[in-house]
Amino acid sequence: MFGLLLLREDFASTSRKTKVSHVFPRHSKSKLPTVVDGQGCCLIDRSGKSYFDGSGGAAVSCLGHGDQEVIAAAKAQLDRIAFAHTSFFTSDPAEQLADRLIDLAPGELDRVYFVSGGSEAMEAALKLARQFFVETGQPQRSRVIARRQSYHGNTLGALAIGGNAWRREPFKPILIDSTHIAPCYEYRGCEDGESSFDYGQRVANELETEILRLGPETVMAFVAEPVVGATMGAVPAVEGYFRRIREICDQYGVLLILDEVMCGMGRTGTLFACEQDGIAPDIMTIAKGLGAGYQPIGAMLCTSAIYDAIASGSGFFQHGHTYIGHATAAAVGNAVLSRLVDDGLVSACAVMGEKLQAALEDRFGQHPHVGDIRGRGLFRGLELVADRETKAPFDPALRLNAKVKAAAFDAGLACYPMGGTIDGVKGDHVLLAPPFIMTDEQVTEVVDKLEIALNKAI
Ligand code: PMP
Repeated sequence: MFGLLLLREDFASTSRKTKVSHVFPRHSKSKLPTVVDGQGCCLIDRSGKSYFDGSGGAAVSCLGHGDQEVIAAAKAQLDRIAFAHTSFFTSDPAEQLADRLIDLAPGELDRVYFVSGGSEAMEAALKLARQFFVETGQPQRSRVIARRQSYHGNTLGALAIGGNAWRREPFKPILIDSTHIAPCYEYRGCEDGESSFDYGQRVANELETEILRLGPETVMAFVAEPVVGATMGAVPAVEGYFRRIREICDQYGVLLILDEVMCGMGRTGTLFACEQDGIAPDIMTIAKGLGAGYQPIGAMLCTSAIYDAIASGSGFFQHGHTYIGHATAAAVGNAVLSRLVDDGLVSACAVMGEKLQAALEDRFGQHPHVGDIRGRGLFRGLELVADRETKAPFDPALRLNAKVKAAAFDAGLACYPMGGTIDGVKGDHVLLAPPFIMTDEQVTEVVDKLEIALNKAI
């Protein structure tokens, strides 16, 4: 009897220890700690260990965790009406969020289509661009030009236009056709003796060359992230680059789609990143920071020129998902926007971003393996190099980015290192995208922990 009990106890405790997770893991061998709590900029796992949320997940948690205003808005909406399908109803929060986004958005963006995340927003953008040309008598326009080393999502359309060749590779036979030009990547692309402005014009002009090569009448859209996130580590374009891109798109009647899924919603210190480039797109996508992690929500904004063409043509956009315009997600979006704009958190992001950049330069400006420290607002990247002088990257086989991530995690910092070989370009970088509520002390904490991680990993 006693023996049997022991056996049972034993079994129970072993099975608890070795409990198999049935959540489909990102990597089959990953063993992740279980997050149980989060307050402000910190996440806490079941063992009680605290992590500074240095990348806001993947640039999602712009308000940090436990924001009482956002939580209250979600609860209030759940108490009224959580969801009603948009084929029957619109809702106050969705209408209000659309109005506020339009008021704040650059240029002529004045229609909003709500979805549940970034990839969905990109799918909607691609389909809207295509439908626009079908309805305006240019059905031959179907080609999309994007940039190498870019990420636009993992659904088939978004994946097809992403510049990340290894992500596309296994799915190639089922992807739409797209072509890619060089990104605007001053650190590696600008030649000796070339001004950064001239460099920007040179790489922007690759778009014109590509449009002419494909035949302007066949090109539907050019897609770019104003500040490149996951694949390059917070790389903004140089002055004048996007103005030239806008000119080229206008000249050839190509729609400009800007993907602000990661860099939008205040992340770069202005509500939309493209404001700092002095241009506005025809279609813009946002997600991540719009729900700040409290609800999954994304949006596609477009000009009335596009909307009206469809409204006066077939009369409806041939698209839709069950959760478009989700009332609770929209209520959260409104509360997030209030925190960002009315409570001044976008401005705080700009200020703290400069402080973070200064602290990173101070600590790593002479580091033998930090080649570049860049970004805007609280969207910062460090490029890791084997040799600062030659900018030689580390051998991708070293998997340095994974080592930095693990060492940072050990030190209590969740950050977003990426690298290896992306589109034939070797390199490792660390992306930082902390919550906008971070304090001066926390800037120091992040830099201290990152230093521990780099010293351990390299
Ligand atoms: N575009 C960009 C620029 C992104 O960074 C991401 C996500 N990392 C996406 C699109 C896709 O967003 P989601 O993961 O929400 O589908």
